[in-house]
Amino acid sequence: MTDPAHGAQHSAAAFHAVYGAEPHGTWAAPGRVNLIGEHTDYNDGFVMPLALPHTTIAAAAPRTDGVLRLHSAGAPGGTVALHLDDLRPAPDAGWAAYPAGVVWAMREAGHPVGGADLHFTSTVPLGAGLSSSAALEVATALALDDLHGLGLPRAELARLAQRAENAFVGVPCGIMDQTAAACCTAGHALFLDTRDLTHRHVPFDLGAQRLRLLVVDTRVRHRLGDGAYAKRRAGCERGARALGVRALRDIPYAHLPEALAALPPEPDLRALVRHVVTENHRVEQTVAHLDAGRPRAIGPLLTAGHASLRDDFRVSCPELDLAVEAAGAAGALGARMTGGGFGGSALVLVDEDAARPVTEALHTAFATAGHTPPRIFPAVPGPGARRLTP
Ligand code: ADP
Ligand code: MG
Repeated sequence: MTDPAHGAQHSAAAFHAVYGAEPHGTWAAPGRVNLIGEHTDYNDGFVMPLALPHTTIAAAAPRTDGVLRLHSAGAPGGTVALHLDDLRPAPDAGWAAYPAGVVWAMREAGHPVGGADLHFTSTVPLGAGLSSSAALEVATALALDDLHGLGLPRAELARLAQRAENAFVGVPCGIMDQTAAACCTAGHALFLDTRDLTHRHVPFDLGAQRLRLLVVDTRVRHRLGDGAYAKRRAGCERGARALGVRALRDIPYAHLPEALAALPPEPDLRALVRHVVTENHRVEQTVAHLDAGRPRAIGPLLTAGHASLRDDFRVSCPELDLAVEAAGAAGALGARMTGGGFGGSALVLVDEDAARPVTEALHTAFATAGHTPPRIFPAVPGPGARRLTP
């Protein structure tokens, strides 16, 4: 159910069923896959997400009594009601912390956001590394922005959504996911410099090139909060300090051998630095290929990126490795894990004709290994957040 018109209708009807009134509008924000540039965003580096056709839809209406009511069709526990005066950062507050955090972040930034009734429906798989959290946040931010006529720039909505996730929910994520949800355009990947947040829409028209990008949701659910992410992030910061730069993004690819030689002999530090520096370089190469109309040429970069995440950054898992291996053996142009890792999804670039045999090979490989069957679907770069109705 990724058809937006149907989604908007369904969302408005569900709002009515919960709150007994019509919403003032419906707003959608997409999930995303990151084409390349993984674990670079907290190193001030480059990322390249594209928006999925899967969206989270917020139906919303303002309230005048300072109450915020939140309901998600995808969450147990019914409607959550809070008063704006009681909004405090609260890790472990459950799913409602994401939209409540957005209201909090907007108000903290001085925007006149009042009470509201919000209802969410979503086709973004939760916890699959496809950024359902940012879709939820950005749908909320855009709905409130529009309800209150704020007219905030997309990049600012993304920043407020990230602040909500960092400071209110308590997840130390970078800015990529929220920027993708807020700023992507159809038919393009978003080349984003996470240092200054400048971005460029790079054409990635799969259909015209007879290509398919398959998303393979391994159904292994990641838990980035369990310390592995924080450990790698801290390692990158130590690496940058040891090399006397603000962030690892400042190490040019051409200087990588000297940089590695200059690092203290701390276990794993070289591998972390090597991943970040080579990954940034792979993003730049990917952009160059796409700008030159050579999308097939990015295949080997995707696969090299996976090897780096598996061997150097060590954030893969057996299911993701199997997906990449099996796709390659069945004739894919390239494949890699996408998102934070330890589960979630892989993406696979294939010629149109190879989509079917590669999909079958993936199902066979997972069955043979005794893994849960993956969910495989094609990703076409879709639009970023937008108002659906009225
Ligand atoms: P990802 O962003 O990769 O999907 P996260 O762990 O960052 O994974 O975010 C998933 C969490 O976000 C869910 O566990 C839930 O708390 C919340 N969430 C996302 N979308 C929704 C939704 N539509 N309804 C309720 N909660 C949601
Ligand atoms: Mg997330």
